Amino acid sequence: MAEKVNVCIVGSGNWGSAIAKIVGANAAALPEFEERVTMFVYEEMIDGKKLTEIINETHENVKYLKGHKLPTNVVAVPDLVEAAKNADILIFVVPHQFIPNFCKQLLGKIKPNAIAISLIKGFDKAEGGGIDLISHIITRHLKIPCAVLMGANLANEVAEGNFCETTIGCTDKKYGKVLRDLFQANHFRVVVVEDAEAVEVCGALKNIVACGAGFVDGLKLGDNTKAAVIRLGLMEMIRFVDVFYPGSKLSTFFESCGVADLITTCYGGRNRRVSEAFVTSGKTIEDLEKEMLNGQKLQGPPTAEEVNYMLKNKGLEDKFPLFTAIHKICTNQLKPKDLIDCIRNHPEHM
Ligand code: NAD
Ligand code: 13P
Repeated sequence: MAEKVNVCIVGSGNWGSAIAKIVGANAAALPEFEERVTMFVYEEMIDGKKLTEIINETHENVKYLKGHKLPTNVVAVPDLVEAAKNADILIFVVPHQFIPNFCKQLLGKIKPNAIAISLIKGFDKAEGGGIDLISHIITRHLKIPCAVLMGANLANEVAEGNFCETTIGCTDKKYGKVLRDLFQANHFRVVVVEDAEAVEVCGALKNIVACGAGFVDGLKLGDNTKAAVIRLGLMEMIRFVDVFYPGSKLSTFFESCGVADLITTCYGGRNRRVSEAFVTSGKTIEDLEKEMLNGQKLQGPPTAEEVNYMLKNKGLEDKFPLFTAIHKICTNQLKPKDLIDCIRNHPEHM
C-alpha cells in the first residue's frame, strides 16, 4: 500500500453520500490517508445545473442526501476512470444492478495493487443458473481483493450521526486495520470478521425479507405476523448460507450485518416502505420506486429475482418458501394476501 493511502468512493447515492461524510472526515484527520477523496458521481442535471458542480460548490448532495454537508476534501468527479485511477482503496457503493458495467469501464484503468471494499447489497445472475457475489465480480473483473462492509446502517440515520454498528468482512487479515481506520467513527463502530461471504450474503438477503415485512404492514396483519416473517426470513438466510456458502459461521448472523440489519430494514428501510405501498396502492413496484424514492433504487425485488433464478434452477424453491413467495408477489405471480399461505407449512414447522 502507498505511503499515503488514496481513497475513491465509487457511488454517490443515499448511502454513498452518507459514508462519504465519515470517510472524508477520517481521510482529513488521519495521517495514513491522502486528504483528498474522490467520489464518482453519476452525472445528472438538477434545475439546470450539474450535480457534480453543485456538490463541489455547496458540499451537499442535494438529490440523494439533502440537508447534510459533505467534508470539503470529498471531491465529486463525473468521470469514473478519472475518479478511480489513483486510488489505493476503492469503495464500491452503487445500486447492485450497475456493478458489472462499472467493472467493465474500470478494467485495466486502476492501480494493480489497489484493494476494494463493497458496500453493495445484492447479487448478480451467473451463467449456469447460479448467482455471483458482488465482491467476487469486482475481484474477477478487476483482479484485486475485495472486502465487504454491511450492517444496520440506514443512510439517513448514519448521516445524522446517530450511534450504530457495522461489520467489515475481510478474508485477508492484513487489510483489516486500514479498512477499520477508514470507516470507524465515534458513532459508527466497526467489527472486522473474516467470514466475508456470509457478511455479504446477509446484506443482500435481508432486503428480500424486508419486502415481506412491508407486505405484512400493508396487509395490516400486526406485529406477531411481522415477527414471524422476520424470524422465518432469518432461518432462510441461515439455510441459504449453509447450502451455498458452507464453512460460514453462525456467529456472523449475530453481527450487525445479520440480525441487526434485518431488524432495521424490516422497520425503517425503503424496501419495507415501498412494499407496504405496493399492497395499499395496487401500483407496480417500478412505479412506486419512481414515485416514492426520487431516483434512489430498491434492491429487494431484483435480489429476490436473482435468488429465485438460482433456487428454481436447483429445484430448491420449496426449501425457501418465504424468498420464493416474495419474488412471486413482486412479479405479480401471487397476490400479497397469499404470502401467509405460502409460509403456513414452512419447513421450520415440520
Ligand atoms: P441509491 O439507492 O441512492 O441509488 C441512487 C444512485 O444510483 C445515485 O448515485 C444515482 O446516480 C445512481 N444511478 C442511477 N442510475 C444509474 C445508472 N444508470 N448508472 C449508474 N448509476 C446510476 O444508492 P445507495 O443508497 O447509495 O445504495 C447503494 C448500495 O448501498 C445499495 O446496494 C444499497 O443496498 C446499499 N445500502 C444502502 C443503504 C441506505 O440506507 N441507502 C444502507 C446500506 C447499504
Ligand atoms: P433499504 O434499502 O431497504 O432502505 O435498506 C437500507 C439498508 O441496507 C440499511 O442497512
